[in-house]
Amino acid sequence: MSTNRFFTLVSRPTGELADSDLGRHEQPIAAPKDGQIQVRTTCISIDPTNRIWMSDVPQYMPPIAIGEVVRALGVGVVEQSANPGFAVGDRVLGLLGWATHPTLDPATSLVGPLPRELPLSDAKVLSLLGLTAGPTAYFGLLEVGQPRAGETLVVDAAAGAVGSLVGQIGKIKGCRVVGIAGGPEKCAYVTKTLGFDACIDYKHEDVGRGLDLCCPKGIDVCFENVGGPIFDEILLRMNLNGRVSICGLIAGYNDAGKRIPGPYNFGMVLMRRLRVQGFIVSDYFPRFPEASAELLQWAQAGKLQTLEDVRQGFDALPETLRQLLRGDKHGKLVLEP
Ligand code: NDP
Repeated sequence: MSTNRFFTLVSRPTGELADSDLGRHEQPIAAPKDGQIQVRTTCISIDPTNRIWMSDVPQYMPPIAIGEVVRALGVGVVEQSANPGFAVGDRVLGLLGWATHPTLDPATSLVGPLPRELPLSDAKVLSLLGLTAGPTAYFGLLEVGQPRAGETLVVDAAAGAVGSLVGQIGKIKGCRVVGIAGGPEKCAYVTKTLGFDACIDYKHEDVGRGLDLCCPKGIDVCFENVGGPIFDEILLRMNLNGRVSICGLIAGYNDAGKRIPGPYNFGMVLMRRLRVQGFIVSDYFPRFPEASAELLQWAQAGKLQTLEDVRQGFDALPETLRQLLRGDKHGKLVLEP
């Protein structure tokens, strides 16, 4: 009989996650108690927020406690059920953690069954419908950014899980879409495959000059994934009454707890009467079915492309998370344990 392999947090990382911050364990699979299910994890979503959750800083959920299994979104199959809402063989999505065979309470782990007829691989479920990808792009752009046809939308981390969908939804809504991504290969993917109007390579180009060239009418909507110097250049070029949807600030996640300077060009919020709003995708939890239906419909109509970077092997989890924060991947990063 297989065992449950899992990683726990043993110390809070300072800077990049170190292997010594984690404990690797192997135990017999626990039978579910009343209300619980036991799942075989088939695909784990590698997300920037895994790193946020490891830091003891103010955030939208409690940080992972020392000794707790590393929290992560994943897809799996129910192997044992003591919960009437779940049958053996059901495919489920939720916070399965960095564990191969977790036994958990579906309510506290936000685990729900996926429709049996859903025509998506596990990796595609995470890249299109997983809350840290499709719903984040959908609500963060449409509800917070409120783009209108003809406006200019700029999104950074544009080749990534969220950014790639944001730009494509922007095109569906009739915007001029400019991405910012690292390296010529990712920029070519953003324009040629995803259909953005332009993409600036922040690793090899002057981002300010690139924005001047690609956004001759200024920027109406900024979908912010990164923060730091890139965000400062965007702020300088925002139009009157522009909207800034703050989705993430990944440039600072490995520095959590340090004093990170805010945007130097914060004055633009005043001068251009900007609406700057942060959001967390779980705020829109009750409306996920609406987002899922429309995202699926767009994908089936060929209007939304997703790309999955699928890694293998449970023990590769720590290094895979480090690679995500370095940008050393292409598309939505997932791991099959
Ligand atoms: P991505 O797939 O976009 O991967 C992260 C990317 O961030 C890297 O590939 C890299 O882009 C870019 N990046 C990292 N550091 C820097 C830097 N210093 N300067 C410029 N770019 C950098 O990740 P996700 O799509 O999963 O997440 C994108 C953002 O959305 C994150 O900030 C995340 O925290 C946030 N998020 C927020 C949610 C919410 O509810 N508010 C939910 C889900 C995600 P490149 O490869 O081009 O170099």
